[in-house]
Amino acid sequence: MQKKDKRFRRSDLLFAGAIFVIAIMVYLLFHFVYGKEGAYVQVAVDGKVQGQYSLSEDRNVQIDYGQAEGFNVLVIEDGKAMVTEADCPDKLCVKQKSISRSGETIVCLPHKLVITVIGGEESEYDGFTG
Ligand SMILES: [Zn+2]
Repeated sequence: MQKKDKRFRRSDLLFAGAIFVIAIMVYLLFHFVYGKEGAYVQVAVDGKVQGQYSLSEDRNVQIDYGQAEGFNVLVIEDGKAMVTEADCPDKLCVKQKSISRSGETIVCLPHKLVITVIGGEESEYDGFTG
């Protein structure tokens, strides 16, 4: 019984080691593929997704709001996204710093606009769960 236990443990350890190596490879793949090329910003208005734009391409996006007057200008430059212009009363979205890391957001409360970075480098370390 003791021998069997020992053998089982050793293979268990090997198995765990293999899983660990695979996890690192998947993480690195994910990190390189999505962390650099795949990062994008998601633009949502009033909880509805209006568009997604890659952070690797510089561009200006004018966000309009149908019937009501209002606009925000989203600028993507050097892998970062920021709001450079808006006609909202508080202009808090314009004052917010540029975002580039996964989970970071720019919010314009008067326009119910939420810009979120998705698939970029993690801004917090939470292991392999993300
Ligand atoms: Zn605003």
